Amino acid sequence: MNNDFICPKCEGYLVVGGSVILSISMQSGLRGLILLSPELGNYAKVSSPHVKIENGEMLDYYCPICHAKLAASDVHPRLVRLIMIDDKSKRHEIFFSGIVGEHCTYKISETVYEKFGESSATYDQYFKTRRI
Ligand SMILES: [Zn+2]
Repeated sequence: MNNDFICPKCEGYLVVGGSVILSISMQSGLRGLILLSPELGNYAKVSSPHVKIENGEMLDYYCPICHAKLAASDVHPRLVRLIMIDDKSKRHEIFFSGIVGEHCTYKISETVYEKFGESSATYDQYFKTRRI
């Protein structure tokens, strides 16, 4: 599976070396970069050793290219939005929780509604109107 991820704002490519690279800001104001898996439902993450990420913290995510905030506040203030281009060149909206340790991911396009992660029931209701 070779999913590519792009910024919804500038459409810049965010996958380098097999990871999705995003910029984050913590509640303390500390900023850094984080590497996420392009595989939906895989919540492995890598960040700078100086950026200590605790479960339950809300992170703000930004595009490292155009610095747009990636919040999907039109759906829910805790959700983050990216665009995924799958191996068949189909585009999907991807939403995931900005809360560390809250494992939920939603893949949405015209004919697709898929959810991943053990917390995926949490925001399910916010997508009902988007489903086909
Ligand atoms: Zn961008």
